[in-house]
Amino acid sequence: MTQMDGAAFLERIAELIGPRYVVTDPGEMAGHLVESRGIYRGTALAVVRPGSTAEVAQVLALANEAGFGIVPQGGNTGLVGGQMPQDARREVVLSLTRLDRIREVDPTSDTLTVEAGVTLLRAQEAAQAVDRLFPLSLASEGSCTIGGNLGTNAGGTAVLAYGNARDLVLGLEVALADGRVWNGLGKLRKDNTGYDLKHLFIGSEGTLGIITAAVLKLFPAPRSTVTAFCGVPSPHAALDLLKAAKAQAGTAVTTFELMPRFGIDIVVTHMEGCRDPLAGRHAWYVLMELSSASQASLEETAETILGDAIEAGFVEDATIASSLDQRNALWRLREALAVGQVHEGGSVKHDISLPLALVPDFIDECSAALRARFPGCRPLPFGHMGDGNLHFNISQPAGGDKQAFLAQWGEMNELVHGMTVARGGSISAEHGIGRLKRDLLPGVKDPVALELMHTLKAALDPRGTLNPGKVLRPGLPFVNLSVASS
Ligand SMILES: Cc1cc2nc3c(=O)[nH]c(=O)nc-3n(C[C@H](O)[C@H](O)[C@H](O)COP(=O)(O)OP(=O)(O)OC[C@H]3O[C@@H](n4cnc5c(N)ncnc54)[C@H](O)[C@@H]3O)c2cc1C
Repeated sequence: MTQMDGAAFLERIAELIGPRYVVTDPGEMAGHLVESRGIYRGTALAVVRPGSTAEVAQVLALANEAGFGIVPQGGNTGLVGGQMPQDARREVVLSLTRLDRIREVDPTSDTLTVEAGVTLLRAQEAAQAVDRLFPLSLASEGSCTIGGNLGTNAGGTAVLAYGNARDLVLGLEVALADGRVWNGLGKLRKDNTGYDLKHLFIGSEGTLGIITAAVLKLFPAPRSTVTAFCGVPSPHAALDLLKAAKAQAGTAVTTFELMPRFGIDIVVTHMEGCRDPLAGRHAWYVLMELSSASQASLEETAETILGDAIEAGFVEDATIASSLDQRNALWRLREALAVGQVHEGGSVKHDISLPLALVPDFIDECSAALRARFPGCRPLPFGHMGDGNLHFNISQPAGGDKQAFLAQWGEMNELVHGMTVARGGSISAEHGIGRLKRDLLPGVKDPVALELMHTLKAALDPRGTLNPGKVLRPGLPFVNLSVASS
């Protein structure tokens, strides 16, 4: 390893990518050193902004040689602190935002090849421009980048029909810790020539390699979309509605989001442009969307589903959007929820998933357990019920002390995660591990799986250059499986 101090390291990077792309001014760095929830504040030697795959690779090779950590960052919208640097002397943020070219749109192969810094919104727009759909959809899509989406294997509101980010990728280009570049930008839908390496990097949160470009899958653009907002008596009834919708509309059911009445109260009280869409009050609500590439309207199908559900008693009332404005207003109720919750004081958050069949009982049992153990707390489980993914948030007691409530974060995590794992669920459905859940991982992950993760990290990044301290705790004894099992 070459001995080099921070100043010499930055000087060398400036020679590689140009001095104006090595940012050390605290004011200019500030936006890269705090994440959207304000939970993590970072500290770093600099923010470096290479402009090409070759430059990313050169910076990596140098950092690897000189013993500096590289923290990849895209839109900085991640919710587990994975994009935050932690060492003002030995880490730099590597911002991918200058890698923002759309390299190719190929509507015949239904592919879109983009660089890592392209925002999700721009990728969606590039697909629309050729009458196609890139279905990944998140509330942060104006800012988050394809590199970050793939780094975290993002989920969002269309997973039910199209899968997670990992299901939307055909090929990848990745810069490795030692500066080599893997060119895996294939467009093949069938390729069984050995290990499928792209899935190693997708969801690895920048700890195994830096994604510099990707070939994304495109789908036919929807011609018919129906958006319904339904009042339902319980999460069990919501599940009955989902089953009925899937039975009648199959893969046309693209979105199925659950919200409790407390969530609707929050958004109509605190968030501009949010109005109660139904006349009466209901204990729970579902935002359901059907869409199809066929010209035939889905409205009749939606009306039949809802009519039957009202007759069967698992939907109490429903409305169907009759214009784009109405559709947007219904979506806003769902998307404003996370921000709206801030107005109710402190909240403790969870991003969990469960086998779908267990979701309704889990909501009831976990809410009851929380209320019994933390009197006055207000559970707010909501989210992507169609995928078995809940953002099981808990608001502080009304008028209570915020800091005292937040001091119970760990205890609440323990209760919610314990009940989740006991039912075969996951403590991180879509946001990743980052820093927030790193130390929880050994408690929930199969020990052999954890050993394999350490083995892969040691093989691909033996010097710990990539996103140090994220996902896996450094310094844990590295278990050589071949020795351990001999
Ligand atoms: C309002 C809001 C709504 C959200 N909704 C959802 C949702 O519905 N579903 C969901 O899954 N997430 C959601 N998120 C979380 C976040 O938007 C996603 O995780 C997103 O994919 C992160 O993209 P980014 O470009 O901002 O990545 P960053 O925040 O910059 O980075 C995230 C992680 O990816 C790594 N990374 C970044 N770029 C690369 C790269 N090129 N190669 C390798 N690793 C890289 C970083 O090191 C970090 O570990 C939401 C966030 C907000 C603020």
